[in-house]
Amino acid sequence: MSRMHVQMSDFLERFVGPERLVPARIGREWRATGASFAVTNPATGECLARVAEVGAEGTRDAIAAAELAGKDWKSVPAKQRATLLRRWFDRVMAYQEDLAQLMTLEQGKPLAETRGEVAYGASFIEFFAEEAKRVAGETLPSHGADKRLMVLREPIGIVAAITPWNFPLAMITRKCAPALAAGCPVVIKPAEATPLTALALVQLALEAGLPEGLISVVTAETPAAIGEVLTTDPRVRKVSFTGSTPVGKRLMAQCASTVKKTAMELGGNAPFIVFDDADLDAAVEGAIASKFRNAGQTCVCTNRFLVQDGIHDAFVERLAARVAELSVGNGLEEGHQIGPLINAAAVAKVQRHVADAVDKGATLVCGGHPHALGHGFFEPTVLSGVTTEMAVAVEETFGPLAPVFRFTDDAEAIAMANDTPFGLAAYFYARDYRRIWHTLEALEYGMVGVNEGLISTELAPFGGIKESGLGREGSHHGLEEFTELKYACIGGL
Ligand code: NAD
Repeated sequence: MSRMHVQMSDFLERFVGPERLVPARIGREWRATGASFAVTNPATGECLARVAEVGAEGTRDAIAAAELAGKDWKSVPAKQRATLLRRWFDRVMAYQEDLAQLMTLEQGKPLAETRGEVAYGASFIEFFAEEAKRVAGETLPSHGADKRLMVLREPIGIVAAITPWNFPLAMITRKCAPALAAGCPVVIKPAEATPLTALALVQLALEAGLPEGLISVVTAETPAAIGEVLTTDPRVRKVSFTGSTPVGKRLMAQCASTVKKTAMELGGNAPFIVFDDADLDAAVEGAIASKFRNAGQTCVCTNRFLVQDGIHDAFVERLAARVAELSVGNGLEEGHQIGPLINAAAVAKVQRHVADAVDKGATLVCGGHPHALGHGFFEPTVLSGVTTEMAVAVEETFGPLAPVFRFTDDAEAIAMANDTPFGLAAYFYARDYRRIWHTLEALEYGMVGVNEGLISTELAPFGGIKESGLGREGSHHGLEEFTELKYACIGGL
């Protein structure tokens, strides 16, 4: 029996309601302009609220406020910045259930996952509150007896954070917490499908005591005007983007005119290799975690299963049996593992990948169709006999589809895994230690899960190579991204 959870707390009612017009946050004020756009629940199609549409002018106001607030913020002692960030973390965790419900309403993933995302997203605030106290420069050996060399590490300046809908909370904290810890103000541009979580997060930051004007949230259904300002205004010194590779490339090109630093967390095409000597049970559980989390809408989700001849049939059989157990339904009901996809276009893409593969000879092992629940729901699907001529081999599906390719030897698996312009995450399951080392070294990816399907943590550098992006988020590397080095040569001694 599933149980529906919709307790509309006072906090939630600020962001959700049939007549609700939720303002954007521009500098020191909540601003509802004339235009607005609807935010809908992907599980039901209902309108959750309308949100203010911000254009170029509102974005420039947000940047002006950031410039002002940033001047003070960079001279706030690191220890005090750390305390304020820690209070924000406490506040987010105190509202974990409200934020989880809000995210399930606007994004669709089950409550168990949105609760997990609040904890994961908050962990970046906690971690970078601690790291704020450890941003250090250095002294270097000198090239002359009368000189001393120092390197100062300074905040980079105004940061634009442009984020996707698949992790409405964590993608924001992963950028904003290190930026704020480093002493930078931020202008957030959340995805049009999930702006409510972003606005709720900023409300909690203000309640925690973070200074007014330091964080803005510019919301819009059509992002181009905001993007144009954020990428070309010389006051913005860094654009940190998470989203698709085509949009990332466009934003990088726009940033060129003012030579901004960019961080690009882009798309992937993750391989998941199962070698003959793998622990089959562990590989199947890892496969479920890495493929079906967030209904497959995760940039590090497995996109291709590459399975060796000797274990292939047993793996497909066990995987299909586990996939058949996944419960599909409204994420607000306890007990479901698969919520809706974000919109009709996402459903159409999974359908196209299934149809293309079956046309070209793949076998549908289970699922394969839009779910009877309608809206964004799609049946968890396994395809076998998948080959490199099929669309699933080269495009990120971003849905609950597990395509299984077959291989014979290690060299073939590595060649297949690396045969993509992307290089975000890869996974493999094996026991032989030489194979483990050789495979780890041969994979052209920014992150590798070895006998592990879930790898994200605030403690490690998250990011990709090749067309999956530039820069790292999380760990001390994630904070350095928001700083600049200033070298000082002190002479005449
Ligand atoms: P998207 O690129 O369509 O949108 C991402 C964000 O960019 C949204 O806020 C959108 O409004 C904004 N945007 C789009 N055009 C813009 C423009 N011209 N100017 C300014 N902003 C603009 O991506 P999406 O569909 O929201 O997210 C899915 C994609 O994100 C997938 O490809 C996924 O792999 C990727 N992703 C990557 C990571 C990572 O860390 N590498 C994490 C999550 C998602």
